[in-house]
Amino acid sequence: MRISFDLDDTLFVAEEDGFTLEPPLGFPWNKLYHERLRKGTIELMRRLREAGCEIWVYTTSFRTPFYIRSLFKHYGIRIDSIVNGARHEKEVQAEHKDPMPSKYPAHYRIDLHVDDDRSVYQNGQYYGFRVFQIGPPDDEWVDKIMAQVGKIKAAP
Ligand SMILES: [Mg+2]
Repeated sequence: MRISFDLDDTLFVAEEDGFTLEPPLGFPWNKLYHERLRKGTIELMRRLREAGCEIWVYTTSFRTPFYIRSLFKHYGIRIDSIVNGARHEKEVQAEHKDPMPSKYPAHYRIDLHVDDDRSVYQNGQYYGFRVFQIGPPDDEWVDKIMAQVGKIKAAP
């Protein structure tokens, strides 16, 4: 199965918002990459791999795929595919006159999208794609997502 993650306030979080973080990258990478990962990200990605999942990033930001891929690579995390704002505009919004939802994981046959934004969750209800809404600091977020993945895999 295929799972995608939002970046800002989902995987990229700030200590001042009360989050515990993965350790920073070593010098000089910490000077290049300022984003910090939510604690548990590394374990979650490892477990998703073990479960045979494809890991995608789906962000409305315009960070380049190269930047995003490199950042995660320094944490030992391989990202299979990246949809940023530019790709979304080209491939999802492109042929439509009416505005499409800000994210449309169904276009990429993504089975589960993880996002902190309530409107993305609501769009999922409306357009029929699955969203796990992640909130503020939550020590059980990794297990909760793995439970969702298990449920989806078990579904006929
Ligand atoms: Mg977000």
